[in-house]
Amino acid sequence: MAIVEPGAEQASGRRRLRLRNPATLELIDEIEVQTAGDVRAAVESARKAQPEWAALKVAERGRILSRAIPVLLARQEEFVDVIVRETGKPRAEALVVEIMAACDAIQFWAKRAPRILADRKLSMHLMKTKKLCIAYRPLGVVGIITPWNFPLMLALNPTIQALMAGNAVVLKPSEVTPFSGLLIQELLRSTRLPDGVFQLLLGDGETGAALVDAGVNKISFTGSVRTGRKVGEACGRNLVPCTLELGGKDPMIVCADADLERAANGAVFGAFSNAGQICVSTERVYVVEEVADAFTQKVVEKTAMLRQGASGEFDVGPMIWPTQLEIVSRHVEDARSRGATVLTGGRRNPELPGLFYEPTVLTGVTHEMAVMREETFGPVLPIMRVRDEEEALRLANDSRYGLNANIWTRDRRKGERLARAVQSGSVVVNDCMLTYGATESPFGGVKESGIGQVNGETGLRGFCHAQSIIIDRFGAKNEFLWYPYSTKKLVWLQRAMRWVWGTPLGRLIS
Ligand code: NAD
Repeated sequence: MAIVEPGAEQASGRRRLRLRNPATLELIDEIEVQTAGDVRAAVESARKAQPEWAALKVAERGRILSRAIPVLLARQEEFVDVIVRETGKPRAEALVVEIMAACDAIQFWAKRAPRILADRKLSMHLMKTKKLCIAYRPLGVVGIITPWNFPLMLALNPTIQALMAGNAVVLKPSEVTPFSGLLIQELLRSTRLPDGVFQLLLGDGETGAALVDAGVNKISFTGSVRTGRKVGEACGRNLVPCTLELGGKDPMIVCADADLERAANGAVFGAFSNAGQICVSTERVYVVEEVADAFTQKVVEKTAMLRQGASGEFDVGPMIWPTQLEIVSRHVEDARSRGATVLTGGRRNPELPGLFYEPTVLTGVTHEMAVMREETFGPVLPIMRVRDEEEALRLANDSRYGLNANIWTRDRRKGERLARAVQSGSVVVNDCMLTYGATESPFGGVKESGIGQVNGETGLRGFCHAQSIIIDRFGAKNEFLWYPYSTKKLVWLQRAMRWVWGTPLGRLIS
């Protein structure tokens, strides 16, 4: 059984991939894997189209891209159908995290980008006869490579930001969910974006690797640490900037004074939505021993109430492809064999045909187990009892990942203190997973969870080169520091240095 299998042989020798619905295992369709030649052609067309797009004002780019919003609103059911067919996720998750989030991102950037990308005029602290202007110039052609867990949003979000910044985009979505990529192409066509500015490439790792080597001006990659490392190496070789949004092993810290009902609801939602296939899923819990039993009991009760299914009303969908099912099973079996207790779940769902793994809660886990060290990316919630918050923090930080984290306490100051001490790119207090969806907050991991950020002002400006333009204000015939050099000038400079950095007044005005 495979969701992505080799497709029919082609006379042209081109590879094809056949895709199945992971919930029902029904055949969806086939795609053709685009070759290095196709990639080069797409980048070339994008390069030709980019200057005309970059010449438009940012607000005008926003007006064009905003035309996607009424299309998304009008065709939301149809879009949700496509996403659900290739991922098996509940319709509510497709609607909220893909369609709603897409509308919000488009509107947000269309409104905010003109201000964020406007020239910044600064007075210079030392060279008072010059003025400085920072201009956010587009990079050129941006290659965007994305995963399958939120196939529409994770591809559309960087695409919109790169386009708003005046770049052309070549998008290579995951081979596991190519049909959402086709939706993006259709959506952007409906905005009457100039031809060539957006290009879609379908294919697998081979197509992705070809894109990294195709002479683009930036790679925005979202995916696993293993692939991210390869992409980073290739970008280093090609001297192409990249952002790498990679995996996580997000910790949850439950303090003794937490609202246990809210924390348990948050744990269940944070661990099992999208069947745990979210980079910012809660993947391990550290709960202070005073409240550990009460918290765990609530989590188990709430988990047992989750409904898995392939149609109608349900809460938890399948693993989106078999590789993920194998990883989840391996982590649970490893934990079980090393002494963990399975409180609920712990097996593939025998009642459903697709790739369903039952929402699973584990206790008695240790940091020797894969489930506490490696990204599981599935519906598994291991809970570890700890002495106090300091031990929770030490264990939370004992990881090679650092993407997101969540902390639960009624004491806001303590929550903020712990948040600042967690080694993660972002952190949420008394809630979970919000950070990618909060468009204004820069998002990206530390440690092996990534390099660079999307979203926020930093993310948008990351699709630009901040060009410094320094302009002389008065047009003197010569500058003091130009030729000729003389002993008199040296003595004067030394005096000036003593005054600027050695006196209170000098320090004040410099
Ligand atoms: P993956 O790394 O297997 O694939 C990601 C993309 O890279 C796909 O489009 C794939 O075709 C392409 N690819 C594969 N080999 C390539 C190569 N050599 N060169 C260039 N491209 C190549 O990841 P996945 O399994 O699709 O996604 C799951 C992973 O993504 C998880 O680790 C998850 O945590 C991570 N993720 C991170 C974020 C984030 O924002 N940090 C968001 C979502 C998912």
